[in-house]
Amino acid sequence: MRERDPDDLAALMRVLHQRVQTSIERRSVSPLMEFVCSNLTAAAKHIASVPTACLRGCSHCCTLWVEASAPEVFFTVKQMDASQRASATKAVEAACRQTAGASFEARADMLTPCPLLRENVCSVYADRPLVCRTAVSTDAEICRRSLILFSGEEIPTPSAWTALRNSHRVALEGALFRAGLAHQSREWNESLRLALNDDHAEANWLAGTDVFAGLPMPQDTVTFTHPQWRAVYVHAFGSFP
Ligand code: SF4
Repeated sequence: MRERDPDDLAALMRVLHQRVQTSIERRSVSPLMEFVCSNLTAAAKHIASVPTACLRGCSHCCTLWVEASAPEVFFTVKQMDASQRASATKAVEAACRQTAGASFEARADMLTPCPLLRENVCSVYADRPLVCRTAVSTDAEICRRSLILFSGEEIPTPSAWTALRNSHRVALEGALFRAGLAHQSREWNESLRLALNDDHAEANWLAGTDVFAGLPMPQDTVTFTHPQWRAVYVHAFGSFP
């Protein structure tokens, strides 16, 4: 599958920007993230015929470094009930004892199961971040060798899924930037810890404070500021500052 049509992608970025504005007004990331999740789910149905090896209970990819933008983190945490939140807080603290401060590169040699994984199943499946929604492989054995045994093999992800991930990442980042909010994705465990322990973090972030500043982030990730994607921003809003 080719990358999403530039017109469609620019339109998605504009719609997400409107949702960001609604989220700011309502002091909740939910209007934005409910739309992002439903839009991505609808788009995924169009590529459902692409064969994959992913099944419930297969969780090799849940040992990988995960990165997420602020609204994704807040949205996941907001959907937890009190019991889930208590359990997540404990598990995230334990995970952070292993991963806090570790760079993306350092994590490549560490087996670090996500603290939200329970008996090989995602405990926040309906509300998981974009990168998890689009982590797809055509060969579970390669995933096992690469992610559990560190064989170094590349995960065979169908291009349709990579395109889906990139398009939503770029549209979301551009929309956040346009609204004056921090757009960067940061390391999942430490972001979760902050969101779980600071009841004001979501409101502060929506007011323009980059509450996750300083947390680890990958050096090489898809971002709307890359020249290829910056053109989409210009297409959506007319100019890039
Ligand atoms: S949030 Fe869920 S899908 Fe993503 S890594 Fe954690 S357990 Fe896996």
